Amino acid sequence: MTERQQAEQPERRPRETGAATPPRRAASPRKTAAQVSSLLQLSSYLVSVLDPQELQAHLAARLVETLPSVQAGILWINHNGRLRPSAVVGLELDAPAVQLLMSSQLRPGEGVAGLAFQRLEPQIVATPLGYRATAEQIAPANLALFQHLGEHLPRHLTVAAVPLRVGSETLGVLELLNLGESSDHGWRPLARADIPMLQTFANLAASALKNAQLYAEAQRNERRLKAFDAVVTAISTATDLTDLVRSVLDVLVDLLPGSCGALLLREPAHDRLDLAAQHGLPPPCVAALRQLPVAEAPFAEVVHYGQPMQRPLLEERGEGAFLAAGLHACAYFPLLAGGTVAGVLALYGDSDLSKVADKEMLMPICNQVGFAIANVRLYADSQSERRKLHTVIASIAEGVLLCDAQGRLTMANDAALGLLRLDSPPFEQPLAAMPDFYRMRDMEGRPLHLEQLPFARALAGEVFQDYRLMLSGVSGDETVMSFSGAPARADDGTIEGAVVVFRDVTASQKLERAKDEFLAVAAHELRSPLAAVRSYADLLLRREQQRSEADPRDLHGLTILTQQVSHMLRMVDNLLDVSRIDAGQLDLQIQPINLVSLAGQVLDQQRPAAGNRSLVLTHDVDELLVEGDSLRIRQVLTNLVSNAIKYTPPESEITVSLCRLDADADAAQELAGPGVLVRVTDQGAGIPPEQQSKLFQRFYRARNSRAEGLGLGLYLSRQFVQMHGGRIWVESVEDAGSSFCFTLPLTQAQLQAHTAGDSAV
Ligand code: ADP
Repeated sequence: MTERQQAEQPERRPRETGAATPPRRAASPRKTAAQVSSLLQLSSYLVSVLDPQELQAHLAARLVETLPSVQAGILWINHNGRLRPSAVVGLELDAPAVQLLMSSQLRPGEGVAGLAFQRLEPQIVATPLGYRATAEQIAPANLALFQHLGEHLPRHLTVAAVPLRVGSETLGVLELLNLGESSDHGWRPLARADIPMLQTFANLAASALKNAQLYAEAQRNERRLKAFDAVVTAISTATDLTDLVRSVLDVLVDLLPGSCGALLLREPAHDRLDLAAQHGLPPPCVAALRQLPVAEAPFAEVVHYGQPMQRPLLEERGEGAFLAAGLHACAYFPLLAGGTVAGVLALYGDSDLSKVADKEMLMPICNQVGFAIANVRLYADSQSERRKLHTVIASIAEGVLLCDAQGRLTMANDAALGLLRLDSPPFEQPLAAMPDFYRMRDMEGRPLHLEQLPFARALAGEVFQDYRLMLSGVSGDETVMSFSGAPARADDGTIEGAVVVFRDVTASQKLERAKDEFLAVAAHELRSPLAAVRSYADLLLRREQQRSEADPRDLHGLTILTQQVSHMLRMVDNLLDVSRIDAGQLDLQIQPINLVSLAGQVLDQQRPAAGNRSLVLTHDVDELLVEGDSLRIRQVLTNLVSNAIKYTPPESEITVSLCRLDADADAAQELAGPGVLVRVTDQGAGIPPEQQSKLFQRFYRARNSRAEGLGLGLYLSRQFVQMHGGRIWVESVEDAGSSFCFTLPLTQAQLQAHTAGDSAV
């Protein structure tokens, strides 16, 4: 037989061991009825207790009072499959034993209580060998406890354990001990016969316990909900960040009895926490929290890991001021906005703080507060950006207009109103009404179509500059405006509005016109005398060259004279071409041209100017016929080759290459068919990328420009190439050289030869 005794043995065993247990007497029916009635009364009392802590404390105590055959009891509560003592009655234990018991936890099967927990049915064991003998299995961690209880409790005892069950849930186990004491009233010790009664009571007690737990849970949820509601109200009614943190902290501290606290905001730029609000903290504590580098804060890990922390206050963590103020515990909660910590809620109180600072309640609240803080900051930032933008726009001398995706005006600066002669911005004006509203005309004075409006162009995705329109005033006067515009795009690229900037260019337009007219007249007037000077200079030079005793100094002087006069004549011709283009009077004389021989002639002409630079012509076929004006194409080629000579060091190579382009080649896009690609490549200093796009503008000269020249050569070249339906561009790498390329369409004849050649292959 094992040390552990089964329920049927208690009657026999004490006698066998001769223990001084009083003889057991059968309970009279009257006494049993009284006992049942007391248990029922106790049950109805228990049902009325709604606080689970109070209920657990009273349950064992009242049961021991009610049942004369029970002198002690332990209420074990199920915590995730382990039994932990929640209330102990009638065991006169010394402090270490109490400490051992209260920190213990039983696994299923350990001791009588663990056995009832495992088997889900009542257990009863009587023994004359002490409490230690009631346990069949004991985990090493609990050996000391059972040993201790064995030494402190009488050897003769009966232990009964009843599971507390509601439905399929086991809330805990009620362990009842008869310590072998005799009853004055003749009650017998606990016996198997008492089990049904105890189980019935345990069922009622379990229901009461469950009720209390559910009630407490409901209360807790209601409290959390109210707290959440109060915080949300505080957040939504706050006027700014200061107001928000103050009212949120007031609400939170009021919710947690006996607490005081502070709310600190994180300053990410300096990795610092600034005190934003405090409630009930003594001045030295406020001073300790005023401004804290994150690394030095007593709650640095809360900021780093975004996890709450509750603990006693510690001198070594810099919390001396709080301890001196009589506070004992702290709870720090991160105010999380997404993944970042926007601040920290610091709560202080006595050692009960951890009970009131309910993590489940405070974490969602802190997340809410974190988001609210982030939103307020974001809003403040965007407002400040907006203000800055307004200031910048207002101070710009040009007119600035902003519109939404529908073209409705959203912002206009004073300069815009002044230029448009408006008293107030027409914010509600739909885009369709704009042409009439602003009385805009194109430069020929024709009314604008909707799609010609600056806003409409920008909303269509176009970025444009110096788009000139006329605005007619009420008195019939006309103002020329130069508009620049661009679409405003959202992150995903969709157009959500447009920006248009404009200025009055009437005066400069007039000046430009006067200048152009002057240049045209001057060029015209200069051309005839210059042409005459060049003819005579040429004549004199030829004569001097033919003279046998020619003076080399005269020859040199006459050569320079002819070159310079030719150069002046070229500049004058360029000016005349520009004014002809402006007046729309430059007509092309289209005819088939063999580009190979034309390029050869141009190179031959340029050779004297090239000095010791080598000029090379490459071509993939001997004849490349293009439709064009030979004068203008010669002008383009001459200009590109003479630029290459000007900007290339001596002894380097300049190549003109000609090749056919298939219709699907990228460079042939504008040609609407196959064409020719002309490439003039030099080994000069190249052109910086930011200047390349401007080279083809009128009068533009890059930083590397030589003294001679007007900046018209490339402008005219582009005009001529475009008039032929081609395209001109530059490819250049600094310090490596440049390639100026242009395309021209092939003639029909060449086209047929081209396709025939292709099919022959
Ligand atoms: P101009 O030669 O009269 O200055 P162009 O219109 O022909 O005017 O050229 C404009 C500018 O482009 C020049 O001033 C020069 O700075 C630059 N440029 C033209 N061709 C070259 C080149 N081959 N290498 C470097 N820079 C060049």
